[in-house]
Parts: sequence; structure tokens; C-alpha cells
Amino acid sequence: MTAGLKGAPLFQQIIEATRTAIRTDAATVALHEPSFCGKEWDYVKECLDTGWVSSVGKFVDLFEERLAEYTGAKHAISAVNGTVALQVCCRLVGVEAGDEVLLPALTFIATANAVHHSGGIPHFVDCDKITLGIDPEALRAYLKDIAELRGEGCFNKKTGRRIRALIAVHIYGHPVDLDALAETCSDFRLELIEDAAESLGSKYKGRHTGNHGKVASLSFNGNKIVTTGGGGAILTNDPELGEQAKHLSTTAKKKHPWKFFHDQIGYNFRLPNLNAALGCAQLEQMDQFVSKKRALAQRYESAFRGLAGVKFFKEPSFAQSNYWLNAFLFDSPDTHQRDAFLEFAHQYGLMMRPAWILMHRLPMYQSCPRADLSVSEDLEKRLINLPSSSQLGGDV
Ligand SMILES: *Cc1c(COP(=O)(O)O)cnc(C)c1O
Repeated sequence: MTAGLKGAPLFQQIIEATRTAIRTDAATVALHEPSFCGKEWDYVKECLDTGWVSSVGKFVDLFEERLAEYTGAKHAISAVNGTVALQVCCRLVGVEAGDEVLLPALTFIATANAVHHSGGIPHFVDCDKITLGIDPEALRAYLKDIAELRGEGCFNKKTGRRIRALIAVHIYGHPVDLDALAETCSDFRLELIEDAAESLGSKYKGRHTGNHGKVASLSFNGNKIVTTGGGGAILTNDPELGEQAKHLSTTAKKKHPWKFFHDQIGYNFRLPNLNAALGCAQLEQMDQFVSKKRALAQRYESAFRGLAGVKFFKEPSFAQSNYWLNAFLFDSPDTHQRDAFLEFAHQYGLMMRPAWILMHRLPMYQSCPRADLSVSEDLEKRLINLPSSSQLGGDV
């Protein structure tokens, strides 16, 4: 069906390799679509039949229980989306107005927005080519240069502001080198937060992501590996933080049969039961989703093998990735080639995407502090995300 393709021979080869991997002739293939093959209808209907659709109900509690069980985290607290879950994470680790929070420049906008909404100032650092996440060595060298440890903690010598935390993002589901980052955080007295929005099902050295920092956030947006329509969660192994997360993400009301005493300014970010019902049904299929996505990644890898000029991105050796979004990289950093290719792919119905525009290029974050970002800037020009729905993984 690719006969008659016009365009550079390399572009044609990529389209053919993609079609071979995804095994479908469908006229358009989305980047990522949800899959509802479990008990979604039953659970959602139960909410409507019983009237439990809002912020209280058995599915919210069940969803949190199952999330904790699946990820191995002691506490999971649901939220209406991943952005606010991350915002609460920032508050939980003590981010205060005017504190800087380190995060990668190569990430989805939600990471930076969550920092901003918590009162923090995003401070962008570079990533490495092995994980696409924060480069631990570059980070350490950078902090040695710009940071100063004083009585209370870590300060940015240039801005005078406190650097409170670091958000490690598992980009496209690929775990970052958490041990190395945790060590640097401990040396520089920074709180480690994981933005695990994309990495449900991904393991770092055998342990599920979201378990290595003080707190972590998940997302269940429609394009993530598991969806609740919209949704998110906070993970933590610290019982006190878990309690605080639940308290803040509701209305911070002290437990009492009738009295409305609220001891803090709560957020009302709790996930409705209706959404949690969808999430419970989705979580039951988690193992299938992960195996299908890993099978698809393997097929991409073999289809792209031997294609001169591009390379399929593979999980780092210490990780088992959910391959949320597959990606390949052009050998040459050429935005003209990248954009011409995207145009070409879309003409042939393949909804591929470039990497996100780096955070420091966006108008609202242009003046934020940042490290040298040359690896991120190079990757931005070369990276393409491939169609990655679990359905494309076929029967496994
Ligand atoms: C999806 C995502 C989030 C959270 O997104 P929501 O749409 O608010 O659920 C946060 N960080 C990253 C890296 C994401 O991909």
C-alpha cells in the first residue's frame, strides 16, 4: 500500500517500517488511543445505577488501593489530573513561593505549570541520550557550579533563591537513572519528586517508578497508558505525607460527624467516583497493556533496524519501560528535515509528533533560570514519536 509514495527515499522507508510494525492499513493511525476492552461499561454503569458519581464512592477507594498495590507504593491518593497531583507533590515537599524547582527542559508543559502553580520557579536542566530524562552527571556538575549549601538548605548563588526540589520525569515512559539522581539530591539537600505521569508500568532496576522519590505523580489523561477520562494520583511511601496529600487534595476538613472545621486551605482536587470506576476497569488490564506496548516496541525496533539515517529509541539497560510513546531519532539535527517528514507522515495518515517544544522557549518560561541545554536542544531537532496505542501491539 506504500507504492507510489513520493518524498525522500528515507521518508518512504520510515513510513514502510512503521506500517510493518503497526500491522494495519487503516487510513489514519492516531499517536495514542485509549482501549476499553474490560469492565469499563459495567463499572461506570454501576456508578450511575447507585448514584455514587462524585467525590465519594467505592471506586475511588478501590482505585487508590489497586494503584498502591500495582506500583508498590504504600499510599496512592487520586486527583482530578496529573498536573494538580504534581502541584500537590510540590507543596508536600515544602515548595514555597519563590523557591526554585529543578526540572528537565524536555518535558510536557504540565511539569513546569505544576511548579508555577505551587508558587515555585521552574529551573531547567539538561537531559541525556540514554534515558531522555535528566542527566545526573551534568546535573551534579551544574549544581557544583551554581549551588551553595547554607544552614537551611541549597541556594542558587546567582539568583539568591532557595532550590527546594528536583522533579525527575520518566520521559515517554523510560525510567531515568533514579539512583544517581537520588544521590545528587541527597548531597545537595534537594527533595526528589518523580513525575511518573508517563511511566505507569515502568520499572527502574526491578522496582516500579514512583517509589524512589519522596512523592510522585501519575496521570490518567486520555492519552496515557491507563485512562480515567481525566485523572491523576499522588504516590508516596511516607504515611504522614500520604495523609497530608489526602487532606489537602480534598477540603482539609477535620474528621467529625457534623462539624465543618477545615484547618488548612484545601484544593478539592479529588477524583470523582465515575472516573475512578473507569480507572479500576483499566487497571485490571494493565499487564496486557504493558505486554502489547512492549511487543509493539520490539516490532518497531526490528523494522527500523538497518535503516540508515534513523535510530529507534530503546529503553535504558537498567530499566523495563512501558514504552508509552515510541520514538525514533534522525541522525542529523535538522528541523527542516524533521518538519518535512512530519508533513509527509501525516499525508500518509500516520499521526506522528515531534518532541515537545522545550520549556525555556515558551513565552512564560523564557526568563526562568536554566543550565546548558545542548543535549535537549539537539534531541528536539531529531526526535519523532511513533503511533503507540496498545491496540497496535496485537495479541500477546
Ligand atoms: C500527562 C503528563 C502530566 C499530567 O498531565 P494531566 O493532563 O494534567 O493529567 C504531567 N507530566 C507529564 C510528563 C505528562 O506527560
